[in-house]
Amino acid sequence: MLLTREFSFEAAHHLTKLPSGPEPVHGHTWRLNVTLEGPVQPDGMVFDFVKLGDVVEKKVLKKLDHADLNRVVANPSAERVALWVWKQLEALPLLSAVQVWECEGCSVTYRGEREKERV
Ligand SMILES: [Zn+2]
Repeated sequence: MLLTREFSFEAAHHLTKLPSGPEPVHGHTWRLNVTLEGPVQPDGMVFDFVKLGDVVEKKVLKKLDHADLNRVVANPSAERVALWVWKQLEALPLLSAVQVWECEGCSVTYRGEREKERV
């Protein structure tokens, strides 16, 4: 079963590798979905939503909320933010997907595929 908890954070960023040159700094209300996958345990849950919230708060939101993402992730596109979030949460044994919305209607989903990025 898939279990998803939704989060959001406010953060500024600018892309630095566009052919036209660096973007101006601007902000978004970013949305983040963290999905775990596993069987329903005898306690009736795949994973405790509260526990998942605590982990994401501590490992991700504390570092990204009201931050300049360029200070945390180089060239922070939604794609590169998703890779960074995955890395922070990698220790969660049931981690299945990280979805990041830069703005309404525009999201990326990373599921831990081996080829993450061509640099
Ligand atoms: Zn943007």
